[in-house]
Amino acid sequence: MIDPWTSSSVDYDKLVNKFGIKKFADILGNIKDPLPLTTRGVIFGHRDFDKMVPLINNHKEFVVVSGMMPSGRMHIGHKMVVDQLKWYLKKGGNLSLPIADMESYGARGIDFTQAKEMAVTEYLSNYIALGLDLTDEKVLVYLQFQHDSAKDLAFELSKKTNFNELKAIYGFYQSTNISHLYVPLVQVADILLPQIEQYGGPKYVVVPVGVDQDPHIRLTRDLADRFKSQFGFIPPASTYHRFLTGLTGGKMSSSDPKTAIYLTDTPEEAEKKVKSAKTGGRESLEEQKKLGGCPDKCVVYEMLVYHLIDNDNELEKIREDCKHGTLLCGECKSMTAEKMKKFFEKLADKRENSLEIAKTLL
Ligand code: SF4
Repeated sequence: MIDPWTSSSVDYDKLVNKFGIKKFADILGNIKDPLPLTTRGVIFGHRDFDKMVPLINNHKEFVVVSGMMPSGRMHIGHKMVVDQLKWYLKKGGNLSLPIADMESYGARGIDFTQAKEMAVTEYLSNYIALGLDLTDEKVLVYLQFQHDSAKDLAFELSKKTNFNELKAIYGFYQSTNISHLYVPLVQVADILLPQIEQYGGPKYVVVPVGVDQDPHIRLTRDLADRFKSQFGFIPPASTYHRFLTGLTGGKMSSSDPKTAIYLTDTPEEAEKKVKSAKTGGRESLEEQKKLGGCPDKCVVYEMLVYHLIDNDNELEKIREDCKHGTLLCGECKSMTAEKMKKFFEKLADKRENSLEIAKTLL
């Protein structure tokens, strides 16, 4: 079972084969001006995204739903979601960005005032600093707890959801408190909300997620079918991205500082963290010169692929030089750390202004 609260390591190929997620590579050729995260295989899977492609290519109406749960610090891995949202906005999509304050209350005990504060200072301000225009009229940002239509829809959806199916997806126990049952329904409501009459009725929606969120997607698609006759819902499409590997080689986690580069780290801290990251280098210099390094097992290389190099040829050269042992880890780390430092300097510059904008959004 994939559990949305605790998943850590994932076999992506198995997911594609076993859970019915389709390979993104099979539809990539149909997309005009695709996002580098898709051409580089970071976004590896989808459900029904082929139905979205003509709308995206022709700037027709569609909505992207992407929630954020205020519960900790944003790290560099979260940038991936923002990059996707920027691309969709450029392609003419509307963005619906629910802030999951009900989930952070139910799952983490964070009260609503604290969650709102965190959403503004940590999440929205970083989204803006990363270049997403949240003041665009095509963007809706809301707090779940303040959005009556989302809560009302969650209640309506609960009528055709039973305890056993939630238990099968989320693994509840007898001692599980009821908020854990309610929260997934609010998340389903967030995804289906753009299709209710208040927002113009049924339409195509896509949800970009990490694969640990697939249980929510499957539940949402099932409920969309169950309520089709009442609301005319179209089951939402989804895309799945790989996780950014943490500095120590496991998953990058907001709650484990050893694994993460936080977006609010100073440029110097970010630089230092890159230099401490696990590489795909060999035991000794001699061995690496002879056998080459393993970029596919290297956290440093992954940072270049996901975040720091736009040009595919430049990336390919680093990959080849690494594999042939002509580029060594010391030099490669220094170059990557310098790029990361510059990226963080720009981010810090923008954040001051972005915080003021973020404060006006909620
Ligand atoms: Fe990673 Fe660079 Fe070392 Fe290759 S040379 S293993 S890409 S740090």
